[in-house]
Amino acid sequence: MKKKRAPAAATVLPGWNSPEWLDRCAWCHKLMGGTDERFTISLRLHPAAFREFDRGTVQPLYLDIAKKIVPVLVVEENSPVQREGKDALCHLCSGLCARALQLILKKTIGTGGA
Ligand SMILES: [Zn+2]
Repeated sequence: MKKKRAPAAATVLPGWNSPEWLDRCAWCHKLMGGTDERFTISLRLHPAAFREFDRGTVQPLYLDIAKKIVPVLVVEENSPVQREGKDALCHLCSGLCARALQLILKKTIGTGGA
């Protein structure tokens, strides 16, 4: 899988190291308030990904099939998420966004080839 950098967005989205991404919906990029209900999707990353990603940071995952960049939080070593065999988390603002992302992830990386 080739990683692509997306062209610079015209919108005023923050840089990838901004903690603001922790409060944005991974699918629609909407800023979520502290009281909004959140949905979470956890996923496994290919081990090779960690040569480039630092744990505990938000990284852009480019989904070619959806022409979309999804921010994923690469979880810390020995975190509860990692103990479940997952490496990264996406936060979503609604069940609709969660379903849309899940569908795309299944098509893209959910084929068990990792
Ligand atoms: Zn959303």
